[in-house]
Amino acid sequence: MKIDYLNLQRITRQHASEIHEAVEKVVNSGWYLQGEATNDFETSYAKYIGTQHCIGCGNGLDALTLIFRAYKVLGKLHEGDEVIVPANTYIASILSLTENRLKPILAEPDAFLQLDATRIETAITPKTRAVLLVHLYGTCAMNDLINDICHRHSLLLIEDNAQGHGLIWHGKRTGSIGDAAAHSFYPGKNLGALGDAGAVTTDDETLAMTIRSLGNYGSSRKYVFPYQGLNSRLDEVQAAVLKVKLKYLDDDNQRRKTIAERYDEELNQRSIKLVRPDNSVYHIYPILCERRDELQEYLASKGIGTMIHYPIPPHQQACYPEWNSLHLPLTEHIAQTELSLPCHPAMTDEEVETVIQTINHWSETY
Ligand SMILES: *Cc1c(COP(=O)(O)O)cnc(C)c1O
Repeated sequence: MKIDYLNLQRITRQHASEIHEAVEKVVNSGWYLQGEATNDFETSYAKYIGTQHCIGCGNGLDALTLIFRAYKVLGKLHEGDEVIVPANTYIASILSLTENRLKPILAEPDAFLQLDATRIETAITPKTRAVLLVHLYGTCAMNDLINDICHRHSLLLIEDNAQGHGLIWHGKRTGSIGDAAAHSFYPGKNLGALGDAGAVTTDDETLAMTIRSLGNYGSSRKYVFPYQGLNSRLDEVQAAVLKVKLKYLDDDNQRRKTIAERYDEELNQRSIKLVRPDNSVYHIYPILCERRDELQEYLASKGIGTMIHYPIPPHQQACYPEWNSLHLPLTEHIAQTELSLPCHPAMTDEEVETVIQTINHWSETY
């Protein structure tokens, strides 16, 4: 039996006829950008997340970049301002800051692999203006201490919700708990398009209008340009697909949770360490293993696909030479030991069983 880490073909096939119908409607409409499908999805997604505004854009990185760019245009952030961000995040979180000439301050994670709230306060300087909170692996990174710190120090709270679609914190969806949030609908995300897509959600009307303008060349109305913008818009085909898939997001997340709970209960912890977060939509199911590469190879030899999120942390990447001498032991340890197990809504019980048995066999035998 071959078990894929992720099987997008199967995931798409679950709602194939509805998706085909939605795409065909757009194809036949002759209207492919800034139309009814985008409008519909933005309204539905804002309602789902619980914000006043949703602005579709090209992808998750653009969503993040547009948020910070808009705050600069509005004079709330300035070149050189410091933004606290988890050191073990995906590179896109960091790129959105450096692209805007803001200074990322890398903070180490806690036991759930999320930004460690107790380290935020020590990272704050007179130049700190914001926290970029990443719900990494689909686990809620928000907590009362972060809320309190942001209020006490008047810091903007921006969420990178690329991996956290559907999470709820204190009765509110992530994407609605800070000042603004970026969402990615990259195909492999919990809510995935059939190509690149993203969105910003916020309750701040001025920010929303600025972002919509910046993503549309910086235009306020046709051929009038108050800002130097970019072109980053959600297209009608992706919006139509996303509107269909949004209906199934909560069920898909429930299925991910059922799989994760089986892993939590049935994987034996002899040679691996489980993370066991208490609030997650399990975009990724990470385990930690000192002999990670051996385990990954063994699973591959048994036909089981896994991934590493992420093998090289941002501060050790060649694109950020200024950080290459920085030592962040917890982040580096995660990069060296993390392994992501298959955990997607189209996985069968039998496949989950096989993954568990194969890992437990390895733990006991090797
Ligand atoms: C996927 C992802 C992004 C970037 O989204 P794209 O749509 O691929 O540009 C940003 N941040 C995190 C945490 C992600 O996982």
